[in-house]
Amino acid sequence: MSARTTLIKARWVVGFDGREHRLIENGCVVYAADKILHVGKAWDGEASETIVAPEHLVIPGLISTHAHIGAGLGDRLIVDAGRRDLLRSGFLNYEPRSEGRASFGENEDKEASIRFGMASLIRHGVTTVVEMGGAVFDKGRTMARLIGESGLRVYYAPMITAGDYRFGSRGELERILDEREGDRTLDEACAFADEFHANHDGRLQAILVINEAYNATPRLMRRTKEEARRRGLGITLHIGEQVWEFHHALRNTGKTPVAILEAEGLLGPEVILGHCRFTGGNSMTAYPYDDDLDIVASSGASVAHAPLAGTRRGGALESFDRYRKRGIKMSIGTDTYPLDIISEMRWASIICKIEDANHEAAPASAVFNAATLGGAGALRRPDLGRLQPGAKADIAIVDLGGLRAGPVRDPIRSLVHAATGECVDTVIVDGRTLLRHRKLTLWDEKEILCAARRSAKAVWDAFPSYHWSGQSIDQVFPPSFPEWIEPAPPMASDNAP
Ligand SMILES: [Zn+2]
Repeated sequence: MSARTTLIKARWVVGFDGREHRLIENGCVVYAADKILHVGKAWDGEASETIVAPEHLVIPGLISTHAHIGAGLGDRLIVDAGRRDLLRSGFLNYEPRSEGRASFGENEDKEASIRFGMASLIRHGVTTVVEMGGAVFDKGRTMARLIGESGLRVYYAPMITAGDYRFGSRGELERILDEREGDRTLDEACAFADEFHANHDGRLQAILVINEAYNATPRLMRRTKEEARRRGLGITLHIGEQVWEFHHALRNTGKTPVAILEAEGLLGPEVILGHCRFTGGNSMTAYPYDDDLDIVASSGASVAHAPLAGTRRGGALESFDRYRKRGIKMSIGTDTYPLDIISEMRWASIICKIEDANHEAAPASAVFNAATLGGAGALRRPDLGRLQPGAKADIAIVDLGGLRAGPVRDPIRSLVHAATGECVDTVIVDGRTLLRHRKLTLWDEKEILCAARRSAKAVWDAFPSYHWSGQSIDQVFPPSFPEWIEPAPPMASDNAP
């Protein structure tokens, strides 16, 4: 008895010919169990089920190579606002603790946040995601369980770090390095990998996540590389996310952060560099020597480009095409809210056009390749990011039939430049349908939203107990408009004739 086969007949299908993506008009995709059987113009075999998608584009499930699966409660505060002395860094506004005070997320319903993040990723067409090591509160066990429940394909282990940020009594930022803490978190990540790698039909893949290059000692980098090599795992980390980090590295070692990674032997084809924005040659570093790009390119490491988060802080990659043309493998991440990779593709394209002052820069094809083949390459997964017989049945069906897309001349440009993640109609991971007709099939979207809102209120209401001097959330991050003040009702005597 053969497995149940599903036939998708669609207006457009992006098929992979073994070398590159190609557009099939009035095409079809057939899959059975977790594998794609056929991609092409027609299918003359049997099908147990047919999905008709007459105004839709069928694409490989999108791959986010950098995400913080959660509700982004800190990131929601720092748009248009935040401390100037942090040189545009976002997370440093809400992550550091102060002596004797609560952490920012102390009152967060952590499970509700993770569910919200996973639901958002699925809703917006992501089928594979690299989670940057959050959810350490129970050594990753809740994350592991929810990876199973959600149906998503996730690369994850609890983060590794030797560093911590603190606010002093005057709000000054301090960074504390502790080599033992680095060893402890690495051991914890390895224990997680040994227990959970390849769980849930292989949908949970372990990856060693160094939180920040800035907070990793040379010894920790070398140990992480060795532990990853022994297990055949990949490595990812934040690097070049902060201007401070760049200047601190340069002042203390004479080397850029990328050059330090090279010197410590961390780079390689199994490594994903999160952001890698403030490298030599970026105008904000005041260091115009861009050898970093050649170092990254020759190492075979990939960059996870998540443009929206950096752009909201007034910084940019400078540029997607400059990196790409130097031979760096580019992929796309969803670093901040909304976890919408289709919007991230658009930002990647538009910002690069401005950076390069060139309308031909970062075309839709290039950012689409980054969110599919680029992500698969970064994860060393030739069975992902493509619709081809033998590849995993990870598929997204995008509705281009509405006013949002309008008349479609080129569905890839319509996807990147007109659609949003909310145009995604159907998402299939490992042959299992997680979203159908824009509705989650395994989880209740309303419940997830209610729980995330409750959790957000609890965190934001408790802000004064987090802030180093007890200020309110509105004092630190002023709202866009002042609150309405209802005029007092007229006095009875005013109405007298
Ligand atoms: Zn990040």
